[in-house]
Amino acid sequence: MRKEDYYNVLGVKKNAGQEDIKRAYRKMAIKYHPDKNPGDKKAEDMFKGAAEAYEVLSDQEKRRRYDHFGHEGLRGVETRGFGNYDDIFDAFGDIFGGGSIFEEFFGGITRARAGRRGASLRCDIVLDFSEVATRVEKVIEITKKNLCEECGGTGARKGTSPVTCPYCRGKGEVHQKQGFFTLRTTCPRCQGKGKIIETPCHRCRGNGVYPKKSEIKVQIPAGIEDGTRLRVVGQGEPGENGAPSGDLYCDILIRPHPIFKRQDYDVICDFPITFSQAALGSEIDVPTISGKFVKVKVPCGIQNGDILPVKGEGFPHVRGYGKGNLLVHIIVEIPAKLTPRQEQLLREFAELEHKNVTPKRKSFFRKVKELL
Ligand SMILES: [Zn+2]
Ligand SMILES: [Zn+2]
Repeated sequence: MRKEDYYNVLGVKKNAGQEDIKRAYRKMAIKYHPDKNPGDKKAEDMFKGAAEAYEVLSDQEKRRRYDHFGHEGLRGVETRGFGNYDDIFDAFGDIFGGGSIFEEFFGGITRARAGRRGASLRCDIVLDFSEVATRVEKVIEITKKNLCEECGGTGARKGTSPVTCPYCRGKGEVHQKQGFFTLRTTCPRCQGKGKIIETPCHRCRGNGVYPKKSEIKVQIPAGIEDGTRLRVVGQGEPGENGAPSGDLYCDILIRPHPIFKRQDYDVICDFPITFSQAALGSEIDVPTISGKFVKVKVPCGIQNGDILPVKGEGFPHVRGYGKGNLLVHIIVEIPAKLTPRQEQLLREFAELEHKNVTPKRKSFFRKVKELL
């Protein structure tokens, strides 16, 4: 059955913010709540459908996978906790106003007091399943603030420089007496900077930065796993007044493959063989992630579900040496249709089987007898 688009289910736009998604879900959950619609199968389906859509769209990671790959991309995805300190910082950095406490504590970086460190940026990098077999370089395009070359980031027109704020005399804060108390507030004229720009730079309109499309090369190590977050140091937005730039975080998403599955560094491939191939043994051509085929010997008497490993045809280990294996997972197919001749031969075979019980069946029946 074709699944309906999650955005349609909630009736929100593809670019809807988290608040809109939450609101849309809440509305539907109230409308279709089973308590309000007893015995109404359609309402129940709507209620369940909305919850499912919300679970995905309210979760950044799942939503990203869904946006890139649709329903297919969510197979086997579970919710992921914070993988490392950077994730915590990313999630809470804003709450802590740039996160100086967090950063000093976790990152060991002491921020220069002169200016705020540049903001970190995030992007998705989508890779094909097999692309990861070797090291790849990806060029990503991202729009970020660029330090203005015209004014060197000061924001003041060429030949001029920012002047001391006359309102606070460069202190960045002002004192207001209210009865016994003196309130200290950020200077409203210079917003705490202590300096003002009288003639702003044309290029950046006094901001010191302007948005610019940048191309950034990202080296992706071979064997990288889906969901990994790569950190590209210094490729975030520039810092203020010479403070260091932020970093760029790249989330790796690996497109699911129609026939291969990944398990750590191994690749699993379901391979169907016929009943007679299984019984008599054969040689099969198995595809690999490198694009070539390898010959694999199937021993006679192989059972459904058996695994034939092909050494070194998996993914390379991200750290260290060696490669995973290709695991050929044998699926024995029972013929669904027989020609009259095939049927005749199988019937003869079946007659012989009664006289000559196979070893596994022998031990199975022995165990059954012991149980009785
Ligand atoms: Zn400028
Ligand atoms: Zn001021």
